[in-house]
Amino acid sequence: KLYNIVQDLKGNIRVYCRIRPTFNAESKGVVDFIGEDGSLVIVDPAKPQRDPEKVFNFNNVYGPTATQEEVFKDVQPLIRSVMDGYNVCIFAYGQTGSGKTHTMCGPSGGSMKDRGMNYLALNDLFHISCKRKDVMGYDFHVQMVEIYNEQVRDLLAEDSSGTKYPFIRTCTSNGGLSLPDATMYPVTSTGDALNFMKLGEMNRVVSSTALNNQSSRSHSILTVHVQGKDKSGSILRSCLHLVDLAGSERVERSEVTGDRLKEAQHINKSLSCLGDVITALAQKNSHIPYRNSKLTQLLQDSLGGRAKTVMFAHVSPEADSYGETISTLKFARRVS
Ligand code: ADP
Ligand code: MG
Repeated sequence: KLYNIVQDLKGNIRVYCRIRPTFNAESKGVVDFIGEDGSLVIVDPAKPQRDPEKVFNFNNVYGPTATQEEVFKDVQPLIRSVMDGYNVCIFAYGQTGSGKTHTMCGPSGGSMKDRGMNYLALNDLFHISCKRKDVMGYDFHVQMVEIYNEQVRDLLAEDSSGTKYPFIRTCTSNGGLSLPDATMYPVTSTGDALNFMKLGEMNRVVSSTALNNQSSRSHSILTVHVQGKDKSGSILRSCLHLVDLAGSERVERSEVTGDRLKEAQHINKSLSCLGDVITALAQKNSHIPYRNSKLTQLLQDSLGGRAKTVMFAHVSPEADSYGETISTLKFARRVS
């Protein structure tokens, strides 16, 4: 038997919570307790007694000292699934500054140490491919796009000169490639893939400067398309989506106007649509509202059915993030 199709006991949706180290040693912090069983207790800095409403349970909780490798250990089974033909989505959710990009890409500045899930996942895909090379031949391609104000942009297009940054119109979800117009590059090693990730990140910076916005205002999606062929010629196709979501913080309506307000509304809408889709899937509803946002439309074939999902809920431990922390954990609880 070539592939190991084991029904996963944890189900197809897993929710992990990661708490980043504090930037402010004096601050009291809001995290009161982290259990090895995935439980988490948050305290309101204004009302220090424990509130049963503020106890959360996830598939895993990672405290501030957890390493990228420790976190990746719980992602690894899903990488194996991709190689066995399952579609997988990994999301980083949380307010700006809570550690989403750290989890997915690694520390800012792109140091070799502490590289994130994107790198570790790709590395693992190539590693498995190498181990299976006598029974299975694998091909890998990458695409990278961002969604800003419900418009999809190609992050790997050659022409990265600011405003000429191309939009993508087509977005299909009929079992085929969901972004046929986005540039797709073959990759044969982790190093190759890393170069494209860097190009994508660079384009993302260029575009966000040109548009006078921060990259934290868009969702970025790195997609790895996997094709495996066995000796008999039968083909297996799957994809892995690694998604660094836009910051989930609520902006005060009274404080922003014009473009900033429009931006905030788009983010709120697409994140709540994502929550709705995952919740509907978890509840096994007959109608899944994929069409309500570009993000869920684009990922339709990789959310639900046999596909597997990991949602990382990122939390800042500081007391002044209390409100956002609770709202992130409530979002995560709703989809788990
Ligand atoms: P986000 O992408 O959610 O806005 P970042 O990943 O940029 O947040 O994190 C904000 C800052 O905190 C960065 O300087 C990042 O390097 C640092 N940071 C986040 N998570 C961790 C962590 N687990 N360990 C060490 N530093 C972290
Ligand atoms: Mg970020």
